[in-house]
Amino acid sequence: MQYINKELNRESGNNITNAYLHDIWIEDEQRYPVDYNDSFKKLPNKANSYYKQMTQVLLNNQNHYCCYCMRRLTGEGDTTLEHIIPQTADDKDALYYQREFPMLKKNIKLSVLFSHEHNPDLTQLPHSVCYDNLVASCHGKFPITKKEADIETDGHSCNHPRGVKRALPLYFLTNIDTIIMYGNNGSIVANPDSTFYKEADELIQSAQLSWETLSDIRALWYVLRDIDIDQSRWQE
Ligand SMILES: [Zn+2]
Repeated sequence: MQYINKELNRESGNNITNAYLHDIWIEDEQRYPVDYNDSFKKLPNKANSYYKQMTQVLLNNQNHYCCYCMRRLTGEGDTTLEHIIPQTADDKDALYYQREFPMLKKNIKLSVLFSHEHNPDLTQLPHSVCYDNLVASCHGKFPITKKEADIETDGHSCNHPRGVKRALPLYFLTNIDTIIMYGNNGSIVANPDSTFYKEADELIQSAQLSWETLSDIRALWYVLRDIDIDQSRWQE
């Protein structure tokens, strides 16, 4: 897992959310619609939706790695947007995340509260479309055989299995590599000496990062770590 610095790219991310909110503003009622999740994927047009624009900003922010499993992502069919505070969260759920990560309190308002306000100011953006509450995650699909590759699954790790389960964004901590650690055999473990041990273990379970195929891939990464793939190709 790699440290993600949300201070970078925030302006670009917030510009997208602000442009989107401008498009859905209900002038007669001086507020935003309560249910707008789908329109983020459709406006201003499907080919270059706000969802797609946000995906690219988040990928740039994360050096094109999945926030959970570190798979390389392009944003073309392999990327989903993970909501740190789940879309359906209430005040109590949100507090779990906001207690440890103040920026999730400072910059974000629960969408349902935001949309019921008249003329809400935009210093806190609705959590379902706010840069600070979003990270890029892979779809967690791992075809094992050709036959399996043809079957549509919902994904074995990362965003999908996590769903609304608790997963504190420990990748926002600069010392994440001392909290969640990897073994040479591809295992992933929470450091028992870390003050975040319980949360790290919870995150690994929620995103199913111990999934067998993922562990095999990590073991392979470790074995191949010193091989310069591009150089090997030249020598063929
Ligand atoms: Zn992933």
